[in-house]
Amino acid sequence: MFFSFDGIDGVGKSTQIHLFCDWLVAQGCEVTQCRDPGSSALGEQIRNLLLADDPAMPIHRRAEMLLYMAARAQLVEQIIRPSLERRKVVVSDRYVLANVVYQGHAGQLSLADVRSVGSVTIDGVRPDAVFLLDMPVQLADERLGQQRDRMERQGDAFRQRLRDGFLTEAADDRSIHVVDATRSIDEVHAAICAIASPLLEARR
Ligand code: ADP
Repeated sequence: MFFSFDGIDGVGKSTQIHLFCDWLVAQGCEVTQCRDPGSSALGEQIRNLLLADDPAMPIHRRAEMLLYMAARAQLVEQIIRPSLERRKVVVSDRYVLANVVYQGHAGQLSLADVRSVGSVTIDGVRPDAVFLLDMPVQLADERLGQQRDRMERQGDAFRQRLRDGFLTEAADDRSIHVVDATRSIDEVHAAICAIASPLLEARR
């Protein structure tokens, strides 16, 4: 079983992933937690390149998209697919939806191109459920505070396009569950577990 978390930065992904993985372990699941980009040695190197804010190393939107994709291809083959084959539950911080939204909807690359390269990178490995943590951009900004990486520093209009893009994708894809992330940490956690429980039951 494969779950991923997505949404704009500051919505509480890290907080919820941590709680969700603990909950899965308490349910008797063997869990593999990963982050996209990252987790493999190659993916972590690519992540550092992507999040560095180095004026001497501009990254064009198309190059950015392909770097994310390369990191994901390695993540799928080195970590996610082998874990699923061992019947582990995989929980990923972001996945291909983030590319569709960041470089497609918000970054204005062709959605068809991003989807098509995305499908090459995942090679059939799709999440059973995506938890899309959603809240107004301004509230996420308040939670994020002053510490931002290159992707987080792209401005309000960009972040609004991100939120809208995520919601547009969710409207067309039943595997994407929109979770109201404005609530308390415990309430959001309970909402996520309520979605995951029947899926885990069905697998057993
Ligand atoms: P993300 O991984 O999506 O960027 P984090 O989990 O790091 O988000 O959360 C961003 C900030 O908001 C952190 O300081 C975290 O403690 C706080 N936070 C997370 N969830 C909630 C919540 N439900 N209510 C209030 N604050 C929260």
